[in-house]
Amino acid sequence: MTVTPDRPAHGGPPARDTSSTPATETIIDRFLSSNRKYAVTFRDGGMDARPVQKVTVVACMDARLDLFAALGLELGDAHVIRNAGGVVTDDTIRSLTISQRALGTRSIALIHHTGCGLLGLTEDFRRELELEVGQRPQWAVESFVDLDGDVRQSMQRVRTSPFLLHTDDVRGFVFDVHTGLLREIH
Ligand SMILES: [Zn+2]
Repeated sequence: MTVTPDRPAHGGPPARDTSSTPATETIIDRFLSSNRKYAVTFRDGGMDARPVQKVTVVACMDARLDLFAALGLELGDAHVIRNAGGVVTDDTIRSLTISQRALGTRSIALIHHTGCGLLGLTEDFRRELELEVGQRPQWAVESFVDLDGDVRQSMQRVRTSPFLLHTDDVRGFVFDVHTGLLREIH
């Protein structure tokens, strides 16, 4: 009878073997092992690069905000642009412009949220950074104290952009991280 107690690591297929992973495995190392599992059941749906629902969502990068679940989106439905605060910067406009002009989207939803990390920051962050590194960043911190006001400002920046093709369906929201509900800002 042949038994293989404590089968050595080299007994398994090399690509799937994680038993020899060192104790210093980082989160990004874990991404790779997760990705190998993901690819096993991944099916290429043959989707087009143009979002099915013709919508772009601009939202904060906050880790508590699961946009696909919160908005009922599925893979291939929408473009998602995320940054600190979900603010409309020049780079956000760049992505929105490409989204609309090259990839056919029409609607834009802007999503800020309660408890945003930017609520506690001020432009002092930028000045302190300059003192520390000897160089003033090119970008504004885009901090805010008034959530609703900042959503309105973001909507205004989108609606007044000369680069966008479609600004008739632009809506803004605050996502409540405690209830999971969106509140529309008018
Ligand atoms: Zn945030």
